[in-house]
Amino acid sequence: MIPATQRQWLVAERPIGRALEPTDFRLAEAVVTEPAEGEVLVRTVYLSFDPAQKSWMENVASYRDPVEIGGVMPGSGVGIVLASRHDGFAPGDAVFGDLGWAETPRLNGERLEKVAEGIPLSAALSVLGGTGRTAYLALMKVGKPVAGDTLLISGAAGATGSLVGQIGKLAGCRVIGIAGGAEKCARLTEELGFDAAIDYKAEKVRSRLRELCPRGVDIFFDNVGGEILNDALARLAVGARVVICGGISRYNFDPRSPEMPAGPRNYFNVVFTGATIQGFLLTHHARDFAEADTRLTDWLRAGRIKAAPDLQHGFENAPATLMRLFEGRNRGKQLLRLGD
Ligand code: NAP
Repeated sequence: MIPATQRQWLVAERPIGRALEPTDFRLAEAVVTEPAEGEVLVRTVYLSFDPAQKSWMENVASYRDPVEIGGVMPGSGVGIVLASRHDGFAPGDAVFGDLGWAETPRLNGERLEKVAEGIPLSAALSVLGGTGRTAYLALMKVGKPVAGDTLLISGAAGATGSLVGQIGKLAGCRVIGIAGGAEKCARLTEELGFDAAIDYKAEKVRSRLRELCPRGVDIFFDNVGGEILNDALARLAVGARVVICGGISRYNFDPRSPEMPAGPRNYFNVVFTGATIQGFLLTHHARDFAEADTRLTDWLRAGRIKAAPDLQHGFENAPATLMRLFEGRNRGKQLLRLGD
């Protein structure tokens, strides 16, 4: 049944140069309107959370449309089609895309994808979707793993990092994760098959890397930046590949302010090792999405990779759920389930 009204979270402030606050968002009620030609009306079931959403609110991300103050907070999710005026979708279809923080969004069908048959809706956002595609493509196309490589991952217990580690094991790498806290590190080695883990909150990363990687790091997959990137650069093997996927340690700084930390002191080690440092942005790799989806779906169905999302509940908790990422409270992929 199509409801008469819905709740939406709107962007109220731009959190530039500081942490997110609850007042950066405003809850509003809106009338649900029928889809126009080419549009689809969707009931949101899960919302997916990504640290980059903070930069979208700041309008510093050049790769997407600007976010207006008072506009619906952007964010990907999965939902069920309630009504459709797009040939590709029918009521009851499960769809994936940028649904935004809205209970019943009306969306351009061209910007939606169908969730494959037999895939749990939450896995469509945790192992597949943007997170899975990022982990697979950034590792395989930029990191270029070779069996026997030592693969080091920062933010390793998070959504992207925990998948990169599992894919790295399938590619025959020795995998070492860096994460905050003993519990997260234990999960990496005991549940996800990592060979070793470093608790950056309690251990000296640089000396642990010396012990764990005597022959150096062949691939460094970075989600964090800052001091952790600097420590990893000191330990590169000859011909190493450094994949810059994320830099969450920077995201609360104003990029234009003098407080923004300077670049890594150890960068010159790329000269001594002939290493490459390459950035990765998912939107540049659309031509390879089908390959990533096929491989990840096969591994998921065969039980070779685990999807263990961190599930929060209740639409009203969306802002607090996004903040969990910056507080390190999420365990794996952060999702929020709306309704039952
Ligand atoms: P996530 O890793 O599931 O969650 C964020 C994690 O970052 C937290 O759990 C926390 O783990 C860690 N963290 C938070 N603040 C930190 C700080 N100041 N220093 C060090 N670690 C901190 O998030 P995700 O969605 O998988 O994203 C991971 C990274 O990939 C993000 O930087 C994101 O922007 C990036 N990303 C990039 C692309 C792309 O196309 N380039 C696509 C998707 C994601 P600990 O408890 O271990 O600190």
